[in-house]
Amino acid sequence: MNRAQELLDSVFGFDSFRPGQAEIVDAVVDGNNVLAIMPTGGGKSLCFQLPALCLEGVTVVISPLIALMRDQVRALRAAGVEAGALTSGNTQEETDEVFEALEAGRLKLLYMAPERLASGGTLNLLRRIGVGLIAVDEAHCVSQWGHDFRPDYLRIGDLRRALGVPLAAFTATADAETRDEIVARLFEGTTPEIFLHGFDRPNIHLAFATKDQPRRQILNFVAARPGQSGIVYCATRAKTETLATALREAGFAACHYHGGMEAEGRRIVESRFQREDGLIVVATVAFGMGIDKPDIRWVAHADLPKSIEAYYQEIGRAGRDGAPAETLTLYGAEDIRLRRSQIDESLAPDDRRGADHGRLNALMGLAEALRCRRMALLEYFGEDADPCGNCDLCDNPVDVFDGTEAVRKALSAMLRTEERFGAGHLIDILRGSANEKIKNWRHDLLPTYGVGKNLSRGEWQAVFRQMMGRDLARPDPTRHGALRMTEAARPLLRGEAKIELRRDTIAKATSKPAAKALVSEENAPLLAALKAKRREFAEAARVPAYIIFNDRTLIEMAETRPVTMDQMAGISGVGAKKLSQFGQDFLAVIVGEPVAQQHPARQQLSGRSAGSVYDRLLAAQNDLSRGDGSGKPMRCTASQLAKVARLHRPSEEQLSKLLGERHAERFGAAFLSVLEDS
Ligand code: ADP
Ligand code: MG
Ligand code: ZN
Repeated sequence: MNRAQELLDSVFGFDSFRPGQAEIVDAVVDGNNVLAIMPTGGGKSLCFQLPALCLEGVTVVISPLIALMRDQVRALRAAGVEAGALTSGNTQEETDEVFEALEAGRLKLLYMAPERLASGGTLNLLRRIGVGLIAVDEAHCVSQWGHDFRPDYLRIGDLRRALGVPLAAFTATADAETRDEIVARLFEGTTPEIFLHGFDRPNIHLAFATKDQPRRQILNFVAARPGQSGIVYCATRAKTETLATALREAGFAACHYHGGMEAEGRRIVESRFQREDGLIVVATVAFGMGIDKPDIRWVAHADLPKSIEAYYQEIGRAGRDGAPAETLTLYGAEDIRLRRSQIDESLAPDDRRGADHGRLNALMGLAEALRCRRMALLEYFGEDADPCGNCDLCDNPVDVFDGTEAVRKALSAMLRTEERFGAGHLIDILRGSANEKIKNWRHDLLPTYGVGKNLSRGEWQAVFRQMMGRDLARPDPTRHGALRMTEAARPLLRGEAKIELRRDTIAKATSKPAAKALVSEENAPLLAALKAKRREFAEAARVPAYIIFNDRTLIEMAETRPVTMDQMAGISGVGAKKLSQFGQDFLAVIVGEPVAQQHPARQQLSGRSAGSVYDRLLAAQNDLSRGDGSGKPMRCTASQLAKVARLHRPSEEQLSKLLGERHAERFGAAFLSVLEDS
């Protein structure tokens, strides 16, 4: 086992790398410049934290937000790693502590806000302490065109040149423009090794639903997931406030968050969300990068996001810990109209607007997908996939019908009224309604009048929504609400193409969407008990629950029910430090009674083969401790046994040196045979 693999296990408690991590870690440890693009929750932090432990000197981590830095430092310390942050949010005491650790050469990771790079003192400090690696988290903050742009990130290039050490940059932002900008600004001329890793987040369940009493839909979704942390994204600030109020009135812990709030108010919500179990935040997209919470169990969209990229990024905040997470995206014709007009009314140049329509189309394609949503999503990002089994369409295949005839009728109604009307009036024409507006416009005389009586109003609404979703019709930006036919619809109108449409399932709003259980029914009470124990520790230490153990780790405990410290050590997320700190208490919850304290020397061997060797040495010793009856009882110390257990085929001399002559005489042969068998 190489060193990185060993540290992965002993420090972080993970038994394997996530996809892509191993290659990135190797490249960084080898001293290469690296740009790694990995989805949110893919495990980017580990890709610089682990190398930091393998490399000489200090790893400087540049990160955009104080909250992010604090959380990472806290998590690292909980795993027994010497890490510290220098930020404007520090107390003097914290800062002193960091400097002390630096001077003593103990610190392995130093987190720093980019603003610090502006001061001359910082460079001198970094020169003096011996930096081995610069790691840049959220590297897209260097991109001037992204909305996370941080001017101080532009100083990182100078820092790299001044220190002359390798740089590793990490981001979840995948588009080529941002990538090029990162390379140009951070690496200046040298080409880093680029890792672009897979976009699939298989633990996130995907689901869309058309709006039908949308507030009820959200309330039901939330009600089915009691005690879980989640985010509801809304299109407007006002809506975040009204929906949060509605949720609170229904008895849920919820608060709102948007860019119009005071910085202090936003900070309070961010830190409550990070810390509390089961808080719901109703937010605009302003609630984003600052959240590093691994146990967000669900993300709901009360309104359609603005593009497929935005959708992917927003749902990606769920389930970073790898445990099951759920999403629900609501949309309706109104959303499509809103998003289209936002694009049309933006001041962006023509080609940019065209691209934005394209990104919205891709999202609509996902919303109106006829088969596996994940396949559609990954296809957009250029990846092949098989039906996933973890989306609403895999769960319940949709009913499709040949919609060619209906679409042609709808197009013809649009054209015969000179593309001056919205879906409501067009449906009245198709269904042959006899209202005032129809009469005034004499639309009852049109040949299309009443040709669509075979479909209900609701069915026609679904047809029009899907036509907009598939970009066969677009709202006219110059005429409020009017629909225009697009070029994409022409083959259908001419009878040269066919189209399949989804039949919307009705009565969705009234039925409660079932939540996916995190564990089987029989393990649920144990999981609840483990969570209660976790809360106890988290409250005592005043840290977020996931700092103790994340959900994924508790789920594995509940499902595999370890009963010894060795088995506990084998659980993903249980490293050596956490094992000794919490192992016994969680074990006690599982076995239902207090667990005997293990000797620390034995505990250090937990989960390793030397652990079971130790146990067999102990048994051999017990057999012989009374000797043949004539001698005095005799025992080795626990640390002697642990040392023996670690030996590989020792000679008799080695043993007698370790145990002393008298002990070696009594136990040597038995111990050697234990070691030989292992
Ligand atoms: P990112 O920065 O890419 O969004 P993080 O670094 O925050 O992701 O990691 C997300 C979660 O995944 C964290 O809770 C982390 O502990 C966990 N994690 C990272 N690597 C592994 C691994 N190899 N095995 C299990 N869990 C992992
Ligand atoms: Mg991260
Ligand atoms: Zn699927």
